[in-house]
Amino acid sequence: MSASQNVLVSETTMSSIIPNNNNSSSQKLPPGLIPVSKKQLLKNIDIINGGAGQRINAWVDSMRASSPTHLRSLPSSISSQQQLNSWIMQHPSALEMFERIMEASGGKQIVMFLDYDGTLSPIVDDPDKAYMSSKMRTTVKKLAKCFPTAIVTGRCIDKVYNFVKLAELYYAGSHGMDIKGPAKGFPRHKRVKQSLLYQPASDYLPMIDEVYRQLLEKTKSTPGARVENHKFCASVHFRCVDEKKWSELVLQVRSVLKNFPTLKLTQGRKVFEIRPMIEWDKGKALEFLLESLGFGNSNNVFPVYIGDDRTDEDAFKMLRDRGEGFGILVSKFPKDTNASYSLQDPSEVMEFLRRLVEWKQMQPRM
Ligand SMILES: [Mg+2]
Repeated sequence: MSASQNVLVSETTMSSIIPNNNNSSSQKLPPGLIPVSKKQLLKNIDIINGGAGQRINAWVDSMRASSPTHLRSLPSSISSQQQLNSWIMQHPSALEMFERIMEASGGKQIVMFLDYDGTLSPIVDDPDKAYMSSKMRTTVKKLAKCFPTAIVTGRCIDKVYNFVKLAELYYAGSHGMDIKGPAKGFPRHKRVKQSLLYQPASDYLPMIDEVYRQLLEKTKSTPGARVENHKFCASVHFRCVDEKKWSELVLQVRSVLKNFPTLKLTQGRKVFEIRPMIEWDKGKALEFLLESLGFGNSNNVFPVYIGDDRTDEDAFKMLRDRGEGFGILVSKFPKDTNASYSLQDPSEVMEFLRRLVEWKQMQPRM
């Protein structure tokens, strides 16, 4: 199996599973919505009438690929070790390549973007208990003194702030649909307004509340399913749902989403995420923050994005397309990714951040 075979079902495939009702094309659409094309509508009708079983299987396969059960069941054969080795060659450890990365930054302004779950905190069964360690908090605090630092997460800002508790950071919550800056701005970037705030999907707030309520009601018969409201998006966690119940959960989620043609579904690590069908993601949030920091058209910036999730791929891709900085994927397993480097887990992330701080402290003051 090559690295590319380990890919989860793509976002396009996942969102196409959501059936749209026949009224969707005539419905008044909120601003920013991508209208559903006739072709797409016909495809969705086809899914409802004929291809649903096959699609659900693809969906369940994708869930399996992101679940710990699947990862544990990987054969510990020589070939899987070879795949890992070959993947590491393509996405070397950011710790091992540290010197080379710093050389590549070439004196440009480093800007740090950090995902939260699975990057700064370990993945845990109860998302309300995804605490970051005090050592990690101290490290991030030091990092933010050296470089502008942003947390980019699927969670709503209030929830992630309760975990991180650092007022000096930028926060892009709900996959970047809710952006706030530090109260005083980054010291060396006075151009930044005192506390920037951007909510490209504010019209969707009542709809997210409603889909959250319906998902909660519909999935309550599935033991272990956990629905969360992240303000600009909702999520359904399946990490505690028995694998035998996954098809049932898929059907439940689908039956709710068919009433919300202007929302799309994506899959993260053991979680489905439901968000507005607008052209906005973690990559766009990254670009918006760079612009807000005064680096919109600058080639004097070196952004570094660290994340573990499929939703982070939008940011990795943005960096690749800009040809600036790079992405680091947090993963112990080969995954198809636009990131350039890898780190195995949050403890390696902390080590990398510590080295960045040390490196900065060694630099002559400008
Ligand atoms: Mg994550």
